[in-house]
Amino acid sequence: MDKIKNLSCSFCGRNEIEVQTLIRGIAGNICNECIAMCHNIIISSAAPETEELEELPKPSVIKSFLDQYVIGQEMAKMIISVAVYNHYKRIFRHNRDEYAELEKSNILMIGPTGSGKTLIAQTLATFLKVPFAISDATTLTEAGYVGEDVENILVRLLQAADYDVAKAERGIVYIDEIDKISRKSETPSLSRDVSGEGVQQALLKILEGTKVNVPPKGGRKHPQQDFIEMDTRNILFIAGGAFFGLEKIIQERMDKKAIGFDVKLGRVTEDYNIFDQTQSHDLLKYGLIPELIGRLPVLCTLHELSQEALIDILTKPKNAICSQYKKYFELDGVDLSFDSDALQEIAGTAIKQQAGARGLRSIMEKFMLKIMYDIPDMDNVRACRISKDVVAKGALPVYEYLESASGKKKASGNS
Ligand code: ADP
Repeated sequence: MDKIKNLSCSFCGRNEIEVQTLIRGIAGNICNECIAMCHNIIISSAAPETEELEELPKPSVIKSFLDQYVIGQEMAKMIISVAVYNHYKRIFRHNRDEYAELEKSNILMIGPTGSGKTLIAQTLATFLKVPFAISDATTLTEAGYVGEDVENILVRLLQAADYDVAKAERGIVYIDEIDKISRKSETPSLSRDVSGEGVQQALLKILEGTKVNVPPKGGRKHPQQDFIEMDTRNILFIAGGAFFGLEKIIQERMDKKAIGFDVKLGRVTEDYNIFDQTQSHDLLKYGLIPELIGRLPVLCTLHELSQEALIDILTKPKNAICSQYKKYFELDGVDLSFDSDALQEIAGTAIKQQAGARGLRSIMEKFMLKIMYDIPDMDNVRACRISKDVVAKGALPVYEYLESASGKKKASGNS
């Protein structure tokens, strides 16, 4: 009994009978309360899980990351890496105010559907560990008209940041189909253009970097609702669109310029993209208002993806579609492979559909569905090879079976 009374916590000095538990050690003892306190100290002083980047990556590092997911579009990736580096430089610097006057590097991406515009914006946000939101410009209208208010763009970002305002204020917003809100005529319209020029005017406000009152739950602003104030100064806005018809405006300008000079101008070829020649007055003519063009100072163009690029998209990126299917098959113990002409056929079909890489998955889903339905019932399949006929004609794939009872390996299929 004496012994027990003599035991005390080496940290707080309390006797064993004063505490719930006392753990004896070789060099000393510790009570349950001191354990709890030490635990809290350790937790609060441990390096927080870095949810944010500690250091701003250099443009070359940003581009290398994009390279892992985005095939081709080299120039666009380079331009964007530099723009993003410059943009976030202002935020990552400790003495931010000194750099506050640096112009914001909002980006305008021009490129056909399915060429990787959204993918680039999304991949950037993942890399920089910042919240990301996508908005469709066609759903927006000028305040007071049927449709969404532009503030809803910020609501999405706020939601992506789990309502952490500070985090949302350094996020990335991708505004899709910016070309669809071009004004109806080149000169300011007399009648109201609420889904075109009206939206462009409304966008200006948030793009340039001001404090905006955002209805946290979205929807229309109404006086009873509480607002959250958001500063858009450090939000990176990336606007994208296909700008169908812009090529004619550019070509016309270039043709005019060429009169009198013996210059043979190139049109669109494999390695020539007329959109690379875009100038601000072409965009003005297309129907963007000059102020909006000014707020999107970084212009980059994406090319239509070639058949080779589409094949690379199927197979090379970290999360390539073919690799994803392979993984699913692996779980059933089946080795999935694609003949190179099968890949060509898939890419060729996507080109015919004119949806860029966007069409690849649905083309594959179409012929893979039946195979994925059948395979789990075929427990002796070892390998499955997708030939061109599977893609083009819906033929059966070439199956290889596990060693049969007779010791022979069997293969079946149509090729
Ligand atoms: P858009 O240019 O219309 O915004 P997206 O970026 O949404 O096109 O592309 C649709 C899908 O196509 C992406 O999710 C991605 O899987 C694929 N994709 C498009 N372009 C590329 C590319 N350059 N590299 C890799 N995948 C791409």
